[in-house]
Amino acid sequence: MHIEAIIASDIPWQAQALCAQTGGDFFFPEPGSSVREAKRICGLCESRAACLEYALAHDERFGVWGGLSEKERLQLRRTPDSK
Ligand code: SF4
Repeated sequence: MHIEAIIASDIPWQAQALCAQTGGDFFFPEPGSSVREAKRICGLCESRAACLEYALAHDERFGVWGGLSEKERLQLRRTPDSK
């Protein structure tokens, strides 16, 4: 789960992670469910850029990270000059 992963980590940006305060269910919805609420929370999160960078660097495949869904992160990785 996202929250446990964030709370258990010593990575500095995770101390400001809004998802640690709001609940992880938004960030790992059932297949076909909306990620709109997770994205809204990410849009308010100070750690968004660092979170997205971390997810891309660690090839996180599931859930919303840094405001992007799994599909959006995959598209970003496939886009030339995306790094
Ligand atoms: S950007 Fe979103 S997923 Fe990343 S730490 Fe912030 S709230 Fe959590």
